[in-house]
Amino acid sequence: MNAINHAATALLINRKWPGVPIIPVFISVQVIEFIWVVLNIVGVETTTTEPVVRALNDIHLTHMPYSHSVVTAVIIAVAVWWVFSSVLNRPAWGVALAVGVLSHIILDIATHVQDIAISPWNGSAKLGLGLYSVPSLALLIETFYGVGCWWFFRGTRKLLAFIIVFNLAALSFYSLSIPGPEQFFAGRAQLFAAFVGVHIMVGLGGVGVLAHSRWRTLGSAKVLSYLLPESR
Ligand SMILES: [Zn+2]
Repeated sequence: MNAINHAATALLINRKWPGVPIIPVFISVQVIEFIWVVLNIVGVETTTTEPVVRALNDIHLTHMPYSHSVVTAVIIAVAVWWVFSSVLNRPAWGVALAVGVLSHIILDIATHVQDIAISPWNGSAKLGLGLYSVPSLALLIETFYGVGCWWFFRGTRKLLAFIIVFNLAALSFYSLSIPGPEQFFAGRAQLFAAFVGVHIMVGLGGVGVLAHSRWRTLGSAKVLSYLLPESR
């Protein structure tokens, strides 16, 4: 799923668990993708491309059993929940951040072609509802999802514009006939991974800034109380 729509999921989590600071929530919704970026750049996971890349479906997420598997996501989510609930005594954080982690794999299964393994040790069976096999429909549904998150959050108009523009900026990636920067990633999958890394940061940063006035959180006060336990 487009980075902006994973970022928009943080808006839902913030609305549901307003006391949880937004930066850990941002990390939770994209931690799986951050792992994917690093593992692709170091060559542990593999992405391949067609000789000519016209759209997203010419880029194949060939081997990503560690970052994107159902079992990996569940392990990370349970670990995060346990650390925050039991060790740090922040049960609401634990639940919210675990939901953030799981949201990523759920949204990816809903959009990807069948490229998501059930576990790192079971590479054969792959999940994915295949929305990306019809890229233009994927863009439409993804954009509606991002707008839905904005609506649920009751964000500003600037935030709405950012979510829509960020989705539409990827139009060439979702269209076989519209040329765009995706063509430069033919045979350069690691460059694509680095691009995704930057894309994630820009998406999170934009949502962070434009939703700032309406975050339902105690923000810095919460972070301070975490860093300085005696102030709890
Ligand atoms: Zn992903």
